[in-house]
Amino acid sequence: MFIDEATITVRAGDGGDGKISFKRGFGQRHGGPDGGNGGEGGDIYLQADRSVNTLMKFDNKNTFVADSGQGGGSQNRTGKSADDMRVNVPVGTMVFDGETGEKLADFTDEGESYLVVRGGSGGHGNAAFASPSYTAPQLREVGERGEERYLRLELKLLADVGIVGFPNVGKSSLIARISSQKPKIGNYHFTTMDPHPGVVEVGDWDSFIAVDIPGLIEGAHEGRGLGDKFLKHLGRTKTLIHMVDISGIEGRDPLEDWKTLRREMTKYDSSLGKLPEIVAGNKTDLVDEETVEKQVTRFSDEGLKLYPVSVATGEGVDELVNVTYERVQQSREVAEGEQAKQGSAEEDNYRIYRFTGERGFRVIQEGDTFVVEGKEVEKLAEKLDFSTVDALDYFHRKLEDKGVIKKLKSNGATDGSIIKIGGQEFELVT
Ligand code: GDP
Ligand code: MG
Repeated sequence: MFIDEATITVRAGDGGDGKISFKRGFGQRHGGPDGGNGGEGGDIYLQADRSVNTLMKFDNKNTFVADSGQGGGSQNRTGKSADDMRVNVPVGTMVFDGETGEKLADFTDEGESYLVVRGGSGGHGNAAFASPSYTAPQLREVGERGEERYLRLELKLLADVGIVGFPNVGKSSLIARISSQKPKIGNYHFTTMDPHPGVVEVGDWDSFIAVDIPGLIEGAHEGRGLGDKFLKHLGRTKTLIHMVDISGIEGRDPLEDWKTLRREMTKYDSSLGKLPEIVAGNKTDLVDEETVEKQVTRFSDEGLKLYPVSVATGEGVDELVNVTYERVQQSREVAEGEQAKQGSAEEDNYRIYRFTGERGFRVIQEGDTFVVEGKEVEKLAEKLDFSTVDALDYFHRKLEDKGVIKKLKSNGATDGSIIKIGGQEFELVT
């Protein structure tokens, strides 16, 4: 099992600004307020999608920004809200907050989605502030900023295909040739200390993960060589490429090698020995056609189909990849069938991650300055457009309604005290 990782930044859309506007009609110089509200910014969801297999696509694109809401218009027109954005991730992805490390989500089923950042709400237009006693508000809010987050994604990769074979038969070379990830290749035994997963792309749209299991030799099941450690990686692998060297260049016999390794795997775990195999006879470039044919016949006498290849020249490699891919597809279908049998009604499994709001506030004294903290009041201070004539009055009234002014006074604030809310400074007027 291998860990694929990616870090991404998600930024939800900003809310649209509210509008200041007054009705204009025939013979009417100044009608009532009709400035509309801004639209909402787009949310961003992560969504599990079975057709995505790895996190590799995030190497190229790792910042996602949802659209902003549009501004409000005159005649009470509300700005258009932006569409939500969905970013597809593989089933099995775990999502962590990149700053706190907190685990946010764990995708286990197709279609599950999590709200990771919420779009800003639209600002109110001046019509929203009108009342019988306040008929011509010169007041509006700007749109709320969309939330932004830094996320770490983690995916345990399960190899679809394990490549087994004695040292130096060409396993690493095969991975290097067919996959986008290139492990080290050496002409001596036990060079590759870790199994290297490689992603093998098939056509434009699909892929499978192959892993090279190095260090398998006779006695591997007893811990000889490195094989024992790596056999574990085959745990859930459904398809094997069993590679032999048909050139005999190292003085080995391919059929004997095949039997020996098969025995080793069965001793390690009897179910391993039963896995379907694709037998690849490598290094055809070193021998003549007759020798290749002879080996193919020897294997077929044992009821085995041998695929002759030369990883060095590429001969036969495409066919090997295609046959492997077909097997992978078959085992995926079986796996999906089993999942379906377990009968998880998908609708019930949708989990939505939500942010929780906060209505409270607190007052902290920093020298002569009083700092008011609290999501709701901070948001209000951030949203109000203080360049409008009535904004300060309105803000003061709101703070009174919420009990903030009272609390400030009881904490010792007096006329002229500096109050800091949401990064802005105000002078208290009592
Ligand atoms: P592994 O131990 O099974 O991973 O084997 P490697 O991929 O490290 O290959 C061992 C040696 O065989 C290297 O020197 C390779 O260059 C060589 N080799 C691999 N495939 C071929 C092939 O098709 N033809 C020839 N002539 N040499 C090959
Ligand atoms: Mg190797």
